Amino acid sequence: MKILLTALLIAVPAGNAAFAATRLVEPQLRLERQEKSAPPRVALTFDACSGKTDDRILSMLVDNRIPATIFVTARWVKRNAAAMAVFKAHPDLFEIENHGAMHVPAVDHPASIYGIAAAGSPQAVETEVASGAAAIVAQGLQPHWFRGATAKYTLSSIGQIRQMGFRIAGYSVNGDGGSLLGATAAEKRFSSARDGDVIIAHINQPTHAAGSGVAKGIMALKAKGYTFVRLNDAIEDGSDETTN
Ligand SMILES: [Zn+2]
Repeated sequence: MKILLTALLIAVPAGNAAFAATRLVEPQLRLERQEKSAPPRVALTFDACSGKTDDRILSMLVDNRIPATIFVTARWVKRNAAAMAVFKAHPDLFEIENHGAMHVPAVDHPASIYGIAAAGSPQAVETEVASGAAAIVAQGLQPHWFRGATAKYTLSSIGQIRQMGFRIAGYSVNGDGGSLLGATAAEKRFSSARDGDVIIAHINQPTHAAGSGVAKGIMALKAKGYTFVRLNDAIEDGSDETTN
């Protein structure tokens, strides 16, 4: 019995260490709160993973002069030159940030996340992050933030990406459920946002119903007096050592 107990005592911490190394985290990100008298303020962040451009959202942002932070992959940039031109024509509205090269989750051990194979090694995480950044630099822009495909990481991949010079953009409100929500549900998600929230949604799925709800939800926040800020223009607090 004594031998068994000793074995257990050794096995448990070793198991925990292995669990900690492979555990996936999905970090939260929030903005510093406004003074009580100030209007509520949120950050709109959009992922452009692959595919096309949702002009229902892009036109609405431009027409209403609403600022947003856009996370693009190298692969999306290559196929959406017209949208990139709109972003670059409005540097006061759009901040372009790094969503990776090929939309591979920035997880440094082999794993499947929502059916997408993770990068799988620190070397592959580096390639995903560095090549994503290079595509933005090639556009004459400088990324400061990284958000990996699926928004999941290991603590070690977070450390690695921070070492490469990027803060990691979590979020606090999932505005469109990976662009799979219905229009009304997406609109409701946006209307649930409170001061300090960082909202994530997609700007690359023009055929999905979610996009029309996203556009309506943002207009509803504007009508309620909310103000909008880009990530580089605010002070944020991210969990899991992603920003501090
Ligand atoms: Zn994505």
